[in-house]
Amino acid sequence: MLREAIQAGTPLGLEVKQIIESGALIGDEIITRLAFDRLREPDTSGGFLLDGYPRTIPQAEALDAFIKGRPLVIVEIDLSEAEVLHRLASRMVCEECGANSQETGGGLQCHDCGGPLVARADDAEEVVRNRLAVYRRQTEPLVQYYTGRKTFHRVNGAQLPDDVTRDILRAIDA
Ligand SMILES: [Zn+2]
Repeated sequence: MLREAIQAGTPLGLEVKQIIESGALIGDEIITRLAFDRLREPDTSGGFLLDGYPRTIPQAEALDAFIKGRPLVIVEIDLSEAEVLHRLASRMVCEECGANSQETGGGLQCHDCGGPLVARADDAEEVVRNRLAVYRRQTEPLVQYYTGRKTFHRVNGAQLPDDVTRDILRAIDA
């Protein structure tokens, strides 16, 4: 949704672009407006998946109010900070379509469209460290916020991707 806003080049999109490139997180009000606009579309009536939202306690409180008691499964994908740094250091993005990709040594072409891959502008080491600091301050308290709910699950993110997927699907089924 953030990429769409940036590509659309709207005033909101330009604002979003500047914030992302500085490594900060988008403010609660902007991101909540974007998320809830999307969740009001009819294709979400049977359920939806949120990735990267909510990221702060105010966003989580807004989401609880928005869904009005409908069931919400929360999955924390747990990964050490060292592994996060390692993965971000090799992350590439497609210049054409904006898809994320991991540098594998097997050519620098997008899986989706064949476009050229470049290092992400927001993945410079200092930006990454700043983002981790923001995560610890703003997002880690969410674990406390959701812990104790029967629908809260922690998944080991250091496993192979298929095993992470399996554990997430199990959490949703539960
Ligand atoms: Zn692409």
